[in-house]
Amino acid sequence: MVVGDISTGTELLVIGGGPGGYAAAIRAGQLGLDVTLVEADAYGGTCLNEGCIPSKALIHASGLAHAVEHAESMGIHARADVDLRGLVAWKDGIVDRLTGGVERLCEASGVNLIEGRAEFVDGNTARVAHGGEGQGSESVEFERAVVATGSRPVELPGFEVDGERILDSSDALSLEALPESLCVVGGGYIGMELSTAFAKLGADVTVVEALDDVLPGYGDDATAIVRDRAEELGIEFRRGEAAQGWAEAGDGARVTTETGAGETNSYTAERVLVAVGREPAADTCNLEAVGIEPSEDGSIETDDATRTAAEGVHAVGDVTGEPMLAHAAYREGRVAAEVAAGEPARLDHRAIPAAVFTDPEIGTVGLDAEGAEAEGFDPVVGEMPMGSSGRALTLGAETGFVRIVADAETGFVLGARIVGPDASELIAEVGLAIEMGARLGDIAGTVHVHPTLSEAVAEAAANAQGTALHTPNR
Ligand code: FAD
Ligand code: NAD
Repeated sequence: MVVGDISTGTELLVIGGGPGGYAAAIRAGQLGLDVTLVEADAYGGTCLNEGCIPSKALIHASGLAHAVEHAESMGIHARADVDLRGLVAWKDGIVDRLTGGVERLCEASGVNLIEGRAEFVDGNTARVAHGGEGQGSESVEFERAVVATGSRPVELPGFEVDGERILDSSDALSLEALPESLCVVGGGYIGMELSTAFAKLGADVTVVEALDDVLPGYGDDATAIVRDRAEELGIEFRRGEAAQGWAEAGDGARVTTETGAGETNSYTAERVLVAVGREPAADTCNLEAVGIEPSEDGSIETDDATRTAAEGVHAVGDVTGEPMLAHAAYREGRVAAEVAAGEPARLDHRAIPAAVFTDPEIGTVGLDAEGAEAEGFDPVVGEMPMGSSGRALTLGAETGFVRIVADAETGFVLGARIVGPDASELIAEVGLAIEMGARLGDIAGTVHVHPTLSEAVAEAAANAQGTALHTPNR
């Protein structure tokens, strides 16, 4: 021990206070373990401070502003004056409220909180360096540990983030003024969500995506609906072009791109948002000291009980690789705590949903028809277009569909893809169905409130059975 160090002991040491880490800590506290949670930066991690919550606040507010300005067909003629500083202050207030809540929830579960950066020293000891000069460090002896150190943005060579011309998603969520034009490099989750928000606020947005289409993995029909709507909002897409570099050009940046065929193009914008993926942060806590070697993609390998190669050390959340989603991290954190407390908890990846908060939203869970076939099922598919939903029409949001996949022989629900308003909420019903082993008849036979979007989920299930009332049966 370094002279001047203090030393504490704990049954469970949790490194990282994002969704994975704080879920593990609170659950372990509930189970009676003596828990210490170490956070280097801000409780709530990426999700609460610079990810899910701030981005959804911006998306909602921009949607509201855009909606009031485009409601002439409803007889509403209004102008929205957006004060971006005010919007960001509102967003920051939400973040403060939630991060403060995390701290209080941890304390209420008896979790000992330490602010600082934790590094393993050996299989039972970690050192926590407190932030700032002269703040000292402390040594924590632990019986078990949970690594929940999260992820960080992938750096794109030639695009060093400076927070001025070249932004990462955190910068983009805290701008003080709306850029007149924005070039978004990467048409994945962040690129599509934030380009939609900035376009709705009035910026000229160009999205450069290296692949043939945006939102890879979401299916051509879902992606096409979201892309068409984005184009309606004025977003320009440069697909099949990889961003190569940039140079100052007057009051902006000229971004150069290259197509697969070697053709080069350039686009000028006041600011550039780089969103080309995130990578696990497996290098922040000296994993070598416990004998964990990250795999080639930088993630920590775990089994279905969140155990790593090191005895007594679990890993959860983004640091374990895809899917890098907050709700996956929460679940893994919970499982890690329960396993650490001796309970027989396990992860089940069948029903982990995903949603993109674009306009319209996309929600998915479980298998699509191809995936179901690949797993040996004989899939039956039911669909309900949003255009046939009375509720969708009253919302002025009739584009999209609910598509549900089940096993033809047994009727067991296997998955769904939903494109439309509140798809991120609607997908939960199908997730629950998969989790419970429900059949099509269970969803179709459940009386849903009218008029609601959730009726479309029941109609899609009925459609798969050939009993839908509001859409032609297959
Ligand atoms: P993090 O939230 O990254 O937390 C890790 C924590 O560990 C950090 O607070 C860090 O400071 C701390 N840490 C790291 N090393 C150490 C150390 N050595 N000692 C102490 N502390 C350490 N997901 C969704 O499901 N839905 C969304 O809508 C969504 N939107 C997003 C929008 C954006 C713009 C971004 C960037 C991400 C979004 N995500 C979303 C992803 C989501 O934020 C992550 O999946 C989630 O935060 C992962 O949680 P985690 O606990 O694994 O890691
Ligand atoms: P992403 O992996 O979703 O998309 C990155 C995109 O960048 C890909 O389409 C890729 O082809 C493209 N790309 C890579 N290099 C490029 C280049 N040189 N030029 C042009 N395009 C290039 O990554 P992201 O959008 O940065 O998001 C990171 C992660 O954050 C996501 O994978 C997800 O786990 C999480 N996230 C989730 C949500 C949500 O759940 N709604 C929202 C935001 C972020």
